[in-house]
Amino acid sequence: MQGFGTTIFAEMSALATATGAINLGQGFPDSDGPPAMLETAVEAIRGGLNQYPPGPGLPELREAVAEQRRGRYGLSYDPATEVYVTVGATEGIAASVLALAGPGDEVIAFEPTYDSYAATVALAGAVLRPVLLRPVEGRFTFDPDELRAAVGPRTRLILVNSPHNPAGTVFTRAELETIAAVCREHDLIAVTDEVYEYLTFDGAEHVPLATLEGMRERTVTVSSVGKTFSVTGWKTGWITAPARYVRAVQTVKQFLTYATGGPWQHATAYALRNELPWVEDLRKSLEGKRDRLITGLEAAGFTAYRPQGTYFVQADIRPLGFTDGMALARELPAKAGVVAIPTQVFYQRPEAGAHFVRFAFCKQDEVIDEAVRRLAALRP
Ligand SMILES: *Cc1c(COP(=O)(O)O)cnc(C)c1O
Repeated sequence: MQGFGTTIFAEMSALATATGAINLGQGFPDSDGPPAMLETAVEAIRGGLNQYPPGPGLPELREAVAEQRRGRYGLSYDPATEVYVTVGATEGIAASVLALAGPGDEVIAFEPTYDSYAATVALAGAVLRPVLLRPVEGRFTFDPDELRAAVGPRTRLILVNSPHNPAGTVFTRAELETIAAVCREHDLIAVTDEVYEYLTFDGAEHVPLATLEGMRERTVTVSSVGKTFSVTGWKTGWITAPARYVRAVQTVKQFLTYATGGPWQHATAYALRNELPWVEDLRKSLEGKRDRLITGLEAAGFTAYRPQGTYFVQADIRPLGFTDGMALARELPAKAGVVAIPTQVFYQRPEAGAHFVRFAFCKQDEVIDEAVRRLAALRP
């Protein structure tokens, strides 16, 4: 793991604390999840749900996840053999990659890539093959030829994150069809990261890759409670996949963490069954926050890309006369009292993302307003 060092989030959040700057870096909400869900976790602890839960997860959560996949997407999974609870999506992805790719295997991912992917692929001894997402008409997308060219004889897996952090792209059905065709043609397994499945804007529809023809049998889908219900600290996630992949993931996961915290699982099952109207309110409020932040970033002189999902805006810093997002992100707390994340840390080829910084908008309106007021000082 030499070369992976400390994550940028730790560095930037420490800078925010040290300088008192507004932290639009790390993507965690500054308000809580649905009160009845929080209460359900408290009651579970008081009620004695405090010893090891079953390794695969509490049956009630596996059933709630199976109901959610069926109800929302028409996908059916057997809660006993095709659903597995993990310590957040992060462990779901890590256990999947460790189970399904080995030394010398290649794993394709769209870059910028969520920061755990490169590290996880390295832990597996596999090689990450990035496919660039670049802005086309205001939206980050990939070139299908570049995707096809990334596939080689050692390619085993493709990691697909949609809605995508940090690019904000929600892959269209046509884009997903392109990915699915490559998977079918080359017999690849897809691991999909759908943690923002509910947080899409402007009517963009989240389409799980597993719903496409021939894909359910070759897809491991990962999601979690954190983003949907604003409890990123709960670290409770799940995979849904054909039983043979679940068994492979189980073999790894049982020696990573064995099981996932019981009270959170109990409360997550409650939330999936009862709190989706709350999530719809969250989604609407995030759409407004997105627009609020973008208006402010544009007024400050950035070129801001309007995401179709997630919590994040990619901002091009070149119109302000800057070229290196890393240098700007390190100066920004002193210069403007705001923390952002230099997006280049999400790239295998940092030069491709050198001129972007990422701002999070999962914050109170007043916090966003104060941040953009401060950023206006950057205008040359
Ligand atoms: C936040 C995030 C995760 C991590 O989810 P956890 O459930 O907290 O482990 C995974 N993927 C993406 C794209 C994320 O933004």
